[in-house]
Amino acid sequence: MSYRTEDIAYVQPAQSAANTPAAQQRTTADFRALDAAHHIHPFSDMGALNRSGSRVIVKAHGVYLWDSDGNKIIDGMAGLWCVNVGYGRKELADAAYRQMQELPYYNTFFKTTHPPIIELSALLAELAPEPFNHFFYCNSGSEGNDTVLRIVHQYWATQRRHSKKIVIARRNGYHGSTIAGATLGGMGYMHEQMPSKVENIVHIDQPYFFGEAESGQTPEEFALARAQQLEAKILEFGAENVAAFIGEPFQGAGGVIFPASTYWPEIQRICRKYDVLLVADEVIGGFGRTGEWFAHQHFGFEPDLITLAKGLTSGYVPMGAVGLHDRIATAIIDNGEFNHGLTYSGHPVAAAVAVANLRLLRDEKIVERVKTDTGPYFQKKLRETFANHPVVGEIAGAGLVAGVQLAEQPASRKRFANGGDVGTLCRDFCFNGNLIMRATGDRMLLSPPLVISREEIDEIVAKAKKAVDATARQLGLL
Ligand SMILES: *Cc1c(COP(=O)(O)O)cnc(C)c1O
Repeated sequence: MSYRTEDIAYVQPAQSAANTPAAQQRTTADFRALDAAHHIHPFSDMGALNRSGSRVIVKAHGVYLWDSDGNKIIDGMAGLWCVNVGYGRKELADAAYRQMQELPYYNTFFKTTHPPIIELSALLAELAPEPFNHFFYCNSGSEGNDTVLRIVHQYWATQRRHSKKIVIARRNGYHGSTIAGATLGGMGYMHEQMPSKVENIVHIDQPYFFGEAESGQTPEEFALARAQQLEAKILEFGAENVAAFIGEPFQGAGGVIFPASTYWPEIQRICRKYDVLLVADEVIGGFGRTGEWFAHQHFGFEPDLITLAKGLTSGYVPMGAVGLHDRIATAIIDNGEFNHGLTYSGHPVAAAVAVANLRLLRDEKIVERVKTDTGPYFQKKLRETFANHPVVGEIAGAGLVAGVQLAEQPASRKRFANGGDVGTLCRDFCFNGNLIMRATGDRMLLSPPLVISREEIDEIVAKAKKAVDATARQLGLL
């Protein structure tokens, strides 16, 4: 079936929850006052936010959001990298509504199961690469990575290799914000605020060519050297003590950092050589972002475990999962009780929404379209638009995800001394221009819904160009 925007069945905005009578009567000022009075936002300086006031998003449709002042905003980030099928799809709303009436909740502990989670597991096994046939469920990417640690530990216990405990991750990686997720992640500012960390987690450097390569190194040489830090780290602790390596195929929150092609094959070679499990955190990369169903397919490697969340339900309801390679699943299945689970593991409503979501991605050929049409178009358009721009150092990405590196001297890879401020400045120009584009330090990020059309891509890129131009002008560089 070919994909036509006019065929999409959308929910009627009038039925959406934001339009309850009480919500309709509140002004933006009312919303802000109540929000400031009672709501603590994630990753926010609440004092500063309450003084400036939040933007209140009241509805969404396709790739657009509307705020409480009636501004129409194009969402270049698919929410938080998750709304892969776009906003307002009736199939997902119907699936949730039907499932809530049929069986709103039942657990999957104590020898029970239910149809939605059975359907979802079978569908994931069909869509994931061949060796992934078993899935464990949770509610988020962070919980997925907690689960990964539990599975890795249990796996080595089943192999009677109890000394294998150390997990190697990367600086500037992002694996969520539970204690385990944030310990795995390499974000120093998060580590600073943690009461304690999970034991036996160590870090190597990231494959961030623009920011960290020596002059004279090619991207391929640099990526290979960064991968080889894994081997050095394994040897430092002894392979008999190292359980797993975890990485995002491309770093998302860290700035959409795409390693050169030499990176993942070398990581895989090292993991196999020293019998270290390879975990791909596919929370952003999964479900079509790069044009492949999973980002490890884009980079051509085969992990032992994959962490899933975000695009699994397109963010309509929370759900996370871990996919187990057959060789890991077999060991877990045949070796007694696995002492891990969450009240909402395999929640029936989330599962029903995930099934509806994955069917849309498959049957409307949305992932294929990212690979053959909108992805290449988006990448080309960005590269053409920012070629030789005075403050753009590189465009990284594939499919419908991209990082735009801001730099003081692009040619020599000289970054701004106050890169974070420059990124924030640029992000604020985007915001004022009704484009949602995120900044991580001095990199501007884009990750729009996968249903975006070419015209909508043009709109995003034009608005991004305006914001980057305004940033350069403010800095006196244009
Ligand atoms: C968002 C993210 C997570 C955490 O997922 P949550 O649902 O926020 O807990 C983990 N890993 C990656 C790569 C992510 O981007």
